[in-house]
Amino acid sequence: LNDGIVCIGCGARFQSTKRGVPGYLNEHKLRSYLSSLNSVDDPINLLCERCFKLKNYNQIEPVAFDSDHFQKILTSISDKKALVLYLVDLFDVGGSMINGLTRFIGNNPVVLVGNKFDILPKSVKKNKIANWLTKEAKNEGIKVLKTVVLSADKGDSGQYLLEEISDYIDEYEEIFVVGVTNVGKSTLINQIIKQISGRGSVITTSRFPGTTLDKIEIPLTEKTRVIDTPGIIHDSQMAHFIDSKDFKYLLPNKEVKAGTLQLSKGQAIFLAGLGWIDFLNKSKISVTAYFENNIELHRGKIENAEKLFSSQAGRLLKPTVLKEYRELEKKEIKLKANQDFAIAGLGWFTFHDSAPICFHLPKGLAFSVRQAEI
Ligand code: GDP
Repeated sequence: LNDGIVCIGCGARFQSTKRGVPGYLNEHKLRSYLSSLNSVDDPINLLCERCFKLKNYNQIEPVAFDSDHFQKILTSISDKKALVLYLVDLFDVGGSMINGLTRFIGNNPVVLVGNKFDILPKSVKKNKIANWLTKEAKNEGIKVLKTVVLSADKGDSGQYLLEEISDYIDEYEEIFVVGVTNVGKSTLINQIIKQISGRGSVITTSRFPGTTLDKIEIPLTEKTRVIDTPGIIHDSQMAHFIDSKDFKYLLPNKEVKAGTLQLSKGQAIFLAGLGWIDFLNKSKISVTAYFENNIELHRGKIENAEKLFSSQAGRLLKPTVLKEYRELEKKEIKLKANQDFAIAGLGWFTFHDSAPICFHLPKGLAFSVRQAEI
């Protein structure tokens, strides 16, 4: 059905199997369009669902590619003089950083955008988070020109971002927006479009012949355009470890509640039915937990932990469990005071005292030890 036929908007080959993957158009529409053509030489003048929405409603839908494809697009950035807007999720910084970003973008400067600020506790100051995030990125070798902290889903985020980067806009013809899936890239781009669409028709979906590079360009000024790049899928993200019906538990949409726990010797904390952590401290310690509000933390004893997990995941340990074929990995590490143990997509513990821990988490799920975020 879709042999060689591409969307005139983005150049992606049509397919009717998966929404959220490039070139999606429902089969009925695709078939009825094709049958309306009189000859094979009639021009195929059809848009995929994503480009259709973009053209008619100025609205971008998220789309995901595998990492090879993404890398090809990103690598092309390194040959240019461009500004890179690099989006990370403040609730999952470790899981949303792109490995080896500097390899792709070359020496180009980066404006780091920390998104989903609204999820952090209200008491947290933007400045402090921005400084912390800048340091984290510098540790990864990224040349940070400026760090902007925002909530993309707030109505003024497009305006805010453009103001924050206004000093740099004129220096570049191209501003690339990069980020892994779920960081809120589409949400932010839609806000940028909203912000500038008052100035006339701004949307062009551009086609790159011979490829299926799905890039969307938004003219920002006479000289400068913003270019959306596809989100990279990180297979270490939590979403790959649970059933899709449980995703609702893992997309925090409001402020996370922090809770401080005093842990005496021999205690374990279960993270719903997803895994657990043995705290191997010899005397009392305190940690603060910042987790997605749906994830119930359950306190137990190390000696019974394995048994409890295998019998109670999904019951006492709720609301979500691992997909069946996911095995747990066990690892011992040592945390210092004022460090976080962060688990991709779930949340983190801030340690106020140093302590060794042994975690039991799904194999392949990203975790990180870092200087405390908050
Ligand atoms: P993309 O895959 O990077 O394009 O991400 P999306 O724009 O589709 O956003 C992923 C999820 O994060 C969606 O459920 C959004 O509603 C949510 N989201 C995006 N920005 C924010 C934000 O500033 N705060 C909160 N709480 N959620 C956000």
